[in-house]
Amino acid sequence: MKKIPPVVKNQELEAEIVDLTYQGMGVAKVEDYSLFVAGALPGEKVKLHVLKVGKNFGFAKVVEWLTTSPDRVEIKGKAYTQTGIAPLQHLKYPAQLKFKRQQIVNLLEKAHLDEAIPVEATIGMDNPYNYRNKAQVPVRKIKGHLETGFFRQGSHKFLPLADSLIEDKRINEVIQTVQKILDDHHLSGYNEREHRGLIRNIMVRRGYYSHDVMLVLVTLHEKIPDVEAIVKEITAACPDIKSIIQNVNPKRTNVIMGKEDILLYGQEKIMDELNGLKFEISAQSFYQVNPQQTEVLYQRAIDAADLTPDDTVIDAYCGIGTISLSVAQKVKKVLGVEIVPEAIADAKNNATLNGLTNLDFEVGRAEDQMAQWQEAGVKPDVIFVDPPRKGLDASLIESAAKMNPKKIVYVSCNPATLVRDIQLFMDQGYQVRKPIQPVDMFPQTPHVESITLLERDE
Ligand code: SAH
Repeated sequence: MKKIPPVVKNQELEAEIVDLTYQGMGVAKVEDYSLFVAGALPGEKVKLHVLKVGKNFGFAKVVEWLTTSPDRVEIKGKAYTQTGIAPLQHLKYPAQLKFKRQQIVNLLEKAHLDEAIPVEATIGMDNPYNYRNKAQVPVRKIKGHLETGFFRQGSHKFLPLADSLIEDKRINEVIQTVQKILDDHHLSGYNEREHRGLIRNIMVRRGYYSHDVMLVLVTLHEKIPDVEAIVKEITAACPDIKSIIQNVNPKRTNVIMGKEDILLYGQEKIMDELNGLKFEISAQSFYQVNPQQTEVLYQRAIDAADLTPDDTVIDAYCGIGTISLSVAQKVKKVLGVEIVPEAIADAKNNATLNGLTNLDFEVGRAEDQMAQWQEAGVKPDVIFVDPPRKGLDASLIESAAKMNPKKIVYVSCNPATLVRDIQLFMDQGYQVRKPIQPVDMFPQTPHVESITLLERDE
């Protein structure tokens, strides 16, 4: 029997929000049919306007709140929700932390594991705003002037926005200053539709401890008119800028950075610290965006591993070696693997910078390198994995298990793939005996980061 949706486009109806999706959207049910509603919270009674009707679910917006949730807080600006910068800003912070834990709990329940795995309360921040050490903003010309802003979520509609709720305040100031100087020199902003115009994006990264700032100007082509004068004005206005890099991205693409970097001023990297170690970070390398919570995350991950001085450790998806270096002093040997060559160059440099000599880093796909290590007879005591959202390849889980480490510490940014991978590790003879520990790395957003300790069956 063909199912007919119980609502039609533009219909108005009253409903109660019964759930919050992992993306932070409220869910209203009409019979069995789900309507997703941005900005609405569980328990709220609302008047809805149906925006879109699909076969299995639809979207609606709130036209009137009939009741509001006790977990609701006043939002700081509609744009932060529209652009996806802070889609959970309307939820009280303690409720955000509960919501993140609950996602892991729900996914574990759905997986019907033989033994229930407990989940700790999420470790949050004292001040869950202005925490990001990096911003990337598109630049466009609006009414004759350059503007920085954001795209409306899921679209290419540009919204000028001078401030951000979650970025380091100094980064916002630098962006505004740079934008004004570029505008004073009448540089053009990128036009996506016509694929022309010079300045595509401004990227700024700032060291949490060092306070050093790196500025990256992403341009469509190489030539920047008045470049010398512009660099002089920028560095005079922002003496904390220690590095200016031009990144050329000539392609028609949503990927922000191109391949070519040109040093316009100062150093190629900026320095920062994590748990007392020094790190030099280049423009193209991945570096955790929430430095305060990264220290907490790593400390928890290291505590979970319970390392001893004779241990050999693998750090898969090691980035610029932040986890590797954090454990190196506690163990005999660390092997790191990462796919981005610049990040591995940074990792090696960072080891030297900190006087550490017991690390080896390889460029490559973690799944291939783990198989190679396993074939070469490497016997790690502990393996750390910190994969991107898609989680681990089944083959990596197999090679990891064949190497027979006592412990695997899984740092995850996606609970769905985490739960899937935990099951695969269980099939290979590993168990989760300690609660999963969520750590909030991305306040005001629905992202869930967590640490899981997998231990070998004895
Ligand atoms: N542990 C690091 C980086 C974690 S982010 C830190 O905490 O800073 C995940 C990293 O995995 C990124 O650096 C990304 O470049 C890398 N990566 C993505 N796919 C990969 C793959 N197939 N093999 C190895 N590394 C990969």
